[in-house]
Amino acid sequence: MTTEEMQKKIEKVFSERFGGKGNIYASAGRINLIGEHTDYNGGFVFPGAIDKVIMAEVRPNGLDIVRVFSIDIDQYCEFGLNEEDAPKESWARYIFGICREIQKRGGDVKGFDAVFAGNVPLGAGLSSSAALESCFAFALNDLYNGNNIDKFELARIGQSTEHNYCGVNCGIMDQFASVFGRKGNLMRLDCRSMEFEYFPFSPENYRLVLVDSRVKHELADSPYNKRRESCERVAKRLGIETLRDATMEALNKIKTDITAEDFFRAKFVIEEKERVLAVCDALNAGDYETVGRKMYETHAGLSKDYEVSCEELDFLNDVAKELGVTGSRIMGGGFGGCTINLLPNDLHDKFVKEVTARFNEKYGHEPKIYDVVISDGARLVEESPKE
Ligand code: ADP
Ligand code: MG
Repeated sequence: MTTEEMQKKIEKVFSERFGGKGNIYASAGRINLIGEHTDYNGGFVFPGAIDKVIMAEVRPNGLDIVRVFSIDIDQYCEFGLNEEDAPKESWARYIFGICREIQKRGGDVKGFDAVFAGNVPLGAGLSSSAALESCFAFALNDLYNGNNIDKFELARIGQSTEHNYCGVNCGIMDQFASVFGRKGNLMRLDCRSMEFEYFPFSPENYRLVLVDSRVKHELADSPYNKRRESCERVAKRLGIETLRDATMEALNKIKTDITAEDFFRAKFVIEEKERVLAVCDALNAGDYETVGRKMYETHAGLSKDYEVSCEELDFLNDVAKELGVTGSRIMGGGFGGCTINLLPNDLHDKFVKEVTARFNEKYGHEPKIYDVVISDGARLVEESPKE
């Protein structure tokens, strides 16, 4: 469903259910071009919002309850605005959480009616949940708080919603990207200082394609925690707070004092930080070939040094390389999920066809393909006409 079709559908359902019109808001899913497993090491991530959104029509109802209908789940839910009113429907808990987190910060929320839908694929690594949170956080800031809650706080409101109402202990990147996203720009976020900078990303001759392997390997011991522990051990040995401040030179000096495993984990993190900075320089110079080369290097590092890849993702990476894709790598934590691919426009159709057929032949199911364009994040799409 295109975004325009979605808006029409939402307006129709809203007027049937509640009568009249509200304001239309939207916020986006996100990709991360490069900078993986760097956030908890105080490094950089490099996300951007995409042209897939959650969109909601929202209007104050003069009551003290929230009434909301999810078009995609085909479910209605209503809840009050006190802590004990948390709904049981998981999708509604995101909206409840946003209301509560705004209230906890001293912001204003009153009853409203809403209808929403989305075209961010759920659970594919594009952060549909952050899009949902940011859409409602932006809407309630506009409707009840005169847009006085600053945008970083809106992202934190989304993050706290995941922590406190949805049981997901996530970082800030997804909500940050969804709130701050800007068409034709990626954002380098410094996970230590929380400062960020926009970099132009509007390649004329290239495009971004995600290939979702649709596999998720659940491993017995938590590999995520083990990676974190390795990084913390090496940082401690180097006498620094996080690997953000480590260099390869310093790491090589302690090589014989640490395990080979810890050495390679830290090596990846140090090199990944450098790669993000190199990609920023390349983008400023419009050099997408270098960007692509760095993406392949990240994949190799994630696969061989950080060891968070899997057979299916390595296969997707090999096929991409063979077909002449400019850059390809795992996107997200690893052990399944998507690869993100930067490729010349004229390779697109061939790549999609070949990668789909070859993956299917080997693993017995087709991957999902998502074309993405770097687009705006949270926004007011249309204001309802004043009566
Ligand atoms: P993702 O990686 O896409 O963020 P999550 O599991 O974190 O995956 O979030 C998905 C959840 O967000 C869904 O289970 C649902 O509760 C909510 N959600 C996302 N998109 C929609 C939608 N279009 N309609 C209703 N709920 C949605
Ligand atoms: Mg999520």
